[in-house]
Parts: sequence; structure tokens; C-alpha cells
Amino acid sequence: MSNVDTAIAVNKRTFIKLFVAMIASPVISPLFAWASSNKLKNWAGNLEYGTDRLYSANSLEQVRDYVKKQSKLKVLGTRHCFNNIADSTHNILSLKSMDEVVALDPETRTVTVNAGITYGQLCPYLHTRGFALHNLASLPHISIAGACSTATHGSGEKNGNLATAASALEIVTADGEVVKLSRQIDGEAFRGAVVGLGALGVITKITLDVQPTFMMRQYVYENLPLSEMKEGQAFEATSEFFGAKRAIRNLHPIAELSAENCTEQMGVPGPWYERLPHFRMGFTPSAGKELQSEYFVPRRHAVEAILAVERLHDQVSPHLMISEIRAIAADNLWLSPCYEQPCVTIHFTWKQDWPAVRKLMPVIEKELAPFNARPHWGKLFTTSPAELKSIYKKIPEFVQLSKKYDPQGKFRNEFLNTNIFSS
Ligand SMILES: Cc1cc2nc3c(=O)[nH]c(=O)nc-3n(C[C@H](O)[C@H](O)[C@H](O)COP(=O)(O)OP(=O)(O)OC[C@H]3O[C@@H](n4cnc5c(N)ncnc54)[C@H](O)[C@@H]3O)c2cc1C
Repeated sequence: MSNVDTAIAVNKRTFIKLFVAMIASPVISPLFAWASSNKLKNWAGNLEYGTDRLYSANSLEQVRDYVKKQSKLKVLGTRHCFNNIADSTHNILSLKSMDEVVALDPETRTVTVNAGITYGQLCPYLHTRGFALHNLASLPHISIAGACSTATHGSGEKNGNLATAASALEIVTADGEVVKLSRQIDGEAFRGAVVGLGALGVITKITLDVQPTFMMRQYVYENLPLSEMKEGQAFEATSEFFGAKRAIRNLHPIAELSAENCTEQMGVPGPWYERLPHFRMGFTPSAGKELQSEYFVPRRHAVEAILAVERLHDQVSPHLMISEIRAIAADNLWLSPCYEQPCVTIHFTWKQDWPAVRKLMPVIEKELAPFNARPHWGKLFTTSPAELKSIYKKIPEFVQLSKKYDPQGKFRNEFLNTNIFSS
């Protein structure tokens, strides 16, 4: 068989395997879309992955077996990153069908899950048993392992990013061995591994802290004058908030779109997981055809940084669908953008015009450079590898940790080679 024939044969087997998984799994449509489209793409469709050699594992043993046999691979979560962090030109491994809750422990207040599960699957399970997570991102559709691997965050000045809830990991390393790391026992190695960008191995299980479930209300205010931003005062759901008017109907963050896809607003109480995200499970989050970038600045520089971006208003606005500002607590996870600093994020949902966005990002990055802005690992940025090393101080230690578990670079891809492993 030629190489091409081999690849086709593997792809046919992969498709059959995926098809079997589809029948067995209740969440079938994305798998079908992945397998049946000509080229495998990320969620936003702006990135075509470098291989269609997609393998879906159903058990720890299958993961171990597959990892042992491959010399190069990358694990893919739910494909929601906008850059090539999850890409591979060799092999892609999906844990999508490994999506069960393994154990909920009310004593230790933790839940252990298989790494393919999404927040959308886990949250109702927790709520009906009286538990909640500390926070969620804008969408519940993403895999927990993929979200933690890139330090995905929600908002709330006392809430760490989603990875801060992780208290233990089970990882299949490059030699196919199973390594268990926990916050309690492994200290620094654990803190290095949680936001791991997929570089240490295949996360097969993850344990998260939980807390008693709670109800929430969500209010939306419109047209906050920029001049009011510098004031600070405890929040009360009054009809006016620093000059912004409380909305009188549910709104989509992108004003032109229907709020049907959004979580309930206007102060109607509901479970945490139906209020913390902007978007509802079962509906398309955001716009779909879009690009995103986001920068974390230390909270003490928040006002100056926001005003710096506002100075670019005329350049940026024509290409922007929506911008968001969120707050995240400091943490101690090595590659977290909030490592040892509470942050505010400045987020851009762009129209899907890559040439324009590519030109704008360095302009924004230059404006935010005085604040040591750290880019979101899963979104688009042009920050140079040298600059990344100067603002993510733990990169050298992370490189050492990765080499311990993956000495030959089996899990490395172009993104990791460029941004983390280039000297
Ligand atoms: C509409 C939309 C809204 C978003 N909103 C937010 C938001 O509110 N806040 C925010 O911070 N981000 C947000 N993001 C970004 C998104 O949350 C992150 O990019 C996140 O990483 C996506 O998870 P995923 O499973 O799709 O990851 P993927 O893109 O599939 O993979 C991301 C990384 O995780 C690794 N990985 C995945 N699974 C494993 C595993 N089992 N073992 C080892 N490595 C693994 C991959 O190798 C890769 O390096 C948004 C994205 C979209 C498209």
C-alpha cells in the first residue's frame, strides 16, 4: 500500500469507528459533522486542521494503546479554539465519547469526570444533585479538559478561571503510562500541568471542586457611558447603573442577533448554569462566523488599558461585532494569564475578516504592551514568542515539566513549537 492508500484506509476505519461511537453516544451531531465534512475544521470554520486522521477513543486502554503506537498526535476537545493550538499535521485524538461522570464525592466536594465531557453535560447533573461549579465561560458547549488546558475563564472579581477548580488530573503520557497528579500531593508539578495546552499528554480524567448549588439572576444594562467607568460602587439592580439603562427585554451580546440563543435575563431567577454563560446549551453560541482575540491586563491597569483600546476606536470598530470586559481572580497555575495577578480581560469578537484582524492585532498589542497584556491561549494573537516568554514567567519550568512527560515531543505541534518550545 502507498502512503496515500494507508491514509485513506485509516480514514475509512476512523469513519466506521466514529459511526459506531455515534450510535452509542447521545451527542452525535458534532461527531457526524467532523467525520462527514471533507476537511476537519474548528468550530468557527476559520481553521482547517492539518490532518483528517481523526481517531476517537472510548476507554483509557484505547487511549494508552493509541498513544504508544503514534509518534506524533494532538488531542482535540470540542474545537472551539480560534488558533492552531489543537492542530496536528499527523494525528488527532478525540475523547468525545469518553464523557461520563466517574464519581461525585459530597464529602470532599469534588466531581471526577472523563475528559471528553462538556460543561453542558456536567452542569445539569451537578445541579440535580445539589452541587454547582464556581463559574462558567460564555458558553457551555466546550469540553472541560480543553477549557482547563487553555485557562478558559468566566467573570467575577473573586472567581478564578475555570482551571482553578481542577484538583486532580489523570494523564496518559507519551510512553502510554498513566500519571496522576493532584493539587494536594503534587504541588508545583500539578500547578504546571493544569493549564497544559495539551503539551504534557492526554488528560483522561479530571477532578473539579464543587460547591452547593445556587440560583442566580442576570440583568443587562445598555449604553454605559465610558466616562462613568472610573467610578466604583457596590452593585444594586436599579433601573439605572452609572447612566446605563436596565434592558427591558432579553438581549444578545451582538445587538442585531436574536436573544433566543441567550440565557434568561431581566432578573428572572434560575440555576447557576443557566445564568452564568451568555449562551444556552442546544443553541449556537455567539455568531458562529466570527474570530476572537482577548488580552488579560493586571486589574490595577484596567481603566488605563480600556482607555488605550478606546483610542483605537475608529480603526477597530468597523471590524468588531462585540467587545467584552471581564474580571478574573489571581491564581497559581503556571501558564494561566492570571498567574499571581488579578486581571481584567479585554475581548474582541471580530467579523470573520482575517486580513483585517491580522493587521489590527499588532496595533492593539502595541497599545496594551505597557500593561504586559497576556493573550488568551485559545484565541488569535500575534504576540511574539520572545514577548510571551517575558510575560509568562513560568514558560521555562513548563518546558522542563513537558519534557519529563513527553521527552520526544510527541504532543507538540506548530503552535507549541513556536510559542513555547522555541529557544
Ligand atoms: C463562541 C465561543 C465563546 C467562547 N467564550 C469563551 C469565554 O467565555 N471564556 C474563555 O476564556 N474562552 C472562551 N472561548 C474560547 C474557548 O473556551 C477555549 O478556546 C477552549 O479551550 C475551548 O475548549 P475546546 O474543548 O473546544 O478546546 P480545543 O480547541 O478542542 O482544544 C484546546 C486545547 O486543549 C487541548 N486539549 C483538549 N482536550 C484535551 C485532553 N483531553 N487532554 C489534553 N489536552 C487536551 C488541545 O490539545 C488544545 O491544546 C470561546 C470560544 C468560542 C468559540
